[in-house]
This record gives sequence, C-alpha cells and structure tokens, in this order.
Amino acid sequence: MEESLKKSDRLAAIGELSARIAHEIRNPLAAISGSTQLIAQGGAVSDPDRRLFDIVLRETDRLNGLISDFLAYARPNQPEPRPVDFHSLVAELAALVTSDERFEGVVIDNRVDSTFRPLLDPDQFRQVLWNLMGNAAGAMPDGGTITVEAGQSDEIRGGGQRRITYRISVADTGLGMDEATVARIFEPFFTTKSTGTGLGLATVHRIVEAHGGRIAVESTPGKGTMFVIFLPTPPSSGE
Ligand code: ADP
Ligand code: MG
Repeated sequence: MEESLKKSDRLAAIGELSARIAHEIRNPLAAISGSTQLIAQGGAVSDPDRRLFDIVLRETDRLNGLISDFLAYARPNQPEPRPVDFHSLVAELAALVTSDERFEGVVIDNRVDSTFRPLLDPDQFRQVLWNLMGNAAGAMPDGGTITVEAGQSDEIRGGGQRRITYRISVADTGLGMDEATVARIFEPFFTTKSTGTGLGLATVHRIVEAHGGRIAVESTPGKGTMFVIFLPTPPSSGE
C-alpha cells in the first residue's frame, strides 16, 4: 500500500515536471518562429532558402501543437460546470473550422436543439468537440459529414429504474477503424498518423471522466465512426 502510494506520488511529480518543461519550451519556441517569420518577410531571403524557412516554420508549428496537446493532457483542470448553450458551442466550432484545411469538403451537421443547456465545463467541452471533430475530419480525406447530436436520454436500468443522462455524439462518414485500433485509441501517445500526438482522445477520456461520465465508440471500416458521451445530469433534473 505504502509502496504503491509512493509510486503514484513519484508519477505525479514526473507529470508535473514534464508539464513544467513543456510550458518552458513555449516562450523560446514562440521567439524562434516569430523571428523566422520576420526574416522571411523581410524579402532578403533567396528562393532556395525560403523553402528552408518554411520547414522551420512548419516544424515549430508542429512542436507548438504537440506542447498544447501535451499540456492539455498533463495539466487537467478541475471542471467548472455551468449551463452551456450547446448548440452555439458547436456552431462556434463549425465557424472556426472553415479556415482549417483538414475540414475541406467536410460538412458539419449541427443537430443540437437550441434549447439544450447541459451543466458542464464549456472550455473543456470545447476541447472535447474540437478533438473529436478534428479526428473525424482527419478520417475523411475526400470530405464527408460530421453529425453532432446532444440532448437528454432516458436510460432504463435494472429493476425498471429510470436514469436521465446527457448524451452527446459525434459521428463521421470516414474511414473507420478496425478492432485492434479501437482497442487502443484512448491510450496516451497512441496514434496511426505520421504527425499525430496520440493525446487527443486520451484528453477527451480524461475530461469525460472528470465529469463523472463515460465515452463509447462504434466504428465500421469504410463506413465511419461514432463517439458517444454519457454524462450524469444534476440530481434535481435527474433521478
Ligand atoms: P491523433 O489524432 O494525434 O492521432 P487521437 O488520440 O486524437 O490522436 O486519436 C488516436 C487515433 O485514433 C488516431 O490516430 C486514429 O487512428 C484513431 N481515430 C480517432 N478518431 C478517429 C475517427 N473519427 N475515425 C478514424 N480513426 C480515428
Ligand atoms: Mg486527434
């Protein structure tokens, strides 16, 4: 018991240390990419060098994304739930992705009722939706549809007991996954992409658990994937 406690303390310390290092990498990285951009814009760079500058910029961008993903995973905040206009949250993200090349040819079907006001942490669920929608778009290189639904669902449990939960789903018409992949997707650092971090779904999982909920996935190779999140409702509107 004492032994395992010590081990978890040590793991927490390593987590905190790596989060701090990641955070400290941010500022010099911003200086590198900012300076590179200024030099490249200065017009003094010849064509073959410009290609090298582009590589520096692309790779610093990638490092930045990796650090953001890592920090979101390693430094989870305690959720601060409040009533959220979920339709607007999805609409906001749908507007944001129009400038993102991964979403070319991707239609976002926001089916969330505009009266739905679940109690959850809006910043954390913006991240959840962002990660799920980003993955969905990545699985649809030739375009397709992302369908987002959310509402209350009645679960009939053993003994005929009713339980009301929030149900949030994100479905795509993309490549899908085989069973071996599905079995590993929530593992931190598991990725099948050449430039993936493998932290998106691990972070989603962590946020859903922090809200007391669970996440399920259904996927068919060649057809698409659907993630479904179930969250407890506050006791007054629930059981
Ligand atoms: P990353 O996106 O960086 O690879 P994630 O944790 O977000 O990391 O996802 C892990 C892996 O799960 C992806 O590399 C991909 O293989 C698989 N995956 C996740 N979402 C989908 C999806 N909607 N369709 C197909 N595969 C998916
Ligand atoms: Mg991802």
